[in-house]
Amino acid sequence: MSVLAVREATMVYPGGVTALAGVSLDIAEGEMVAIAGPSGSGKSTLLHIMGTLDRPTSGTVQLGGLDIGGLSDRRLSALRGRWLGFVFQQFHLAAGLSAAENVATGLLYAGVPRRRRRPLALEALDRVGLSHRVSHRPHQLSGGERQRVAIARALIHSPALLLADEPTGALDTRNGQAVLELLYRLHEEGTTIAVITHDRDIAAKLPRRIEMLDGRLVADSGTAASR
Ligand code: ADP
Repeated sequence: MSVLAVREATMVYPGGVTALAGVSLDIAEGEMVAIAGPSGSGKSTLLHIMGTLDRPTSGTVQLGGLDIGGLSDRRLSALRGRWLGFVFQQFHLAAGLSAAENVATGLLYAGVPRRRRRPLALEALDRVGLSHRVSHRPHQLSGGERQRVAIARALIHSPALLLADEPTGALDTRNGQAVLELLYRLHEEGTTIAVITHDRDIAAKLPRRIEMLDGRLVADSGTAASR
């Protein structure tokens, strides 16, 4: 089943920059995809469209078979909260909250009663190997640990698709490697993941690789099934 389908998406920013020039892309359940390309090639714009954070100028986006084009912003953000998980280069953790509290915020739009949130947060932290850091605040954690907290927050509601934007971009090589290994393990456990990266070495390690250039999709290694 297709988790995400983008059809002929274009994005023209105010001022006339064409950031996407007709991109079509399918991501099937269980895939792990790298979206690679140089700076300015349109990766972030595509991620925003895949994540329903922006609507394309033209073209369509389907999430779990549902065309999002006709949805109100409110319905769209509810859908996003249930279907998608986001991981960003700069972690975006709340400074005043513990690791467990940060992870629990991933359930805010999932309709989970308050008393169920902490046990689920502890479970998610365990999944990313951080059971020994539940009460730590972000400033008490290493960069790699912060990113693992962010990954636990993105996963806590079992999203159909995890979108990671340069998840190792702010980390040193060793921590970056550990975060990639974690994402890979989550993929092996069944999570569908798309990773945006400008780093060819990272892209080369992922099962499917898509390359962007000048707002176009110029190469797709395809799914294992189609090779
Ligand atoms: P990448 O993530 O591959 O670096 P982006 O999607 O950020 O690429 O950018 C693609 C193109 O769109 C670039 O030329 C960039 O300058 C332009 N762009 C990105 N965001 C905006 C925006 N909000 N307004 C105008 N132009 C933008």
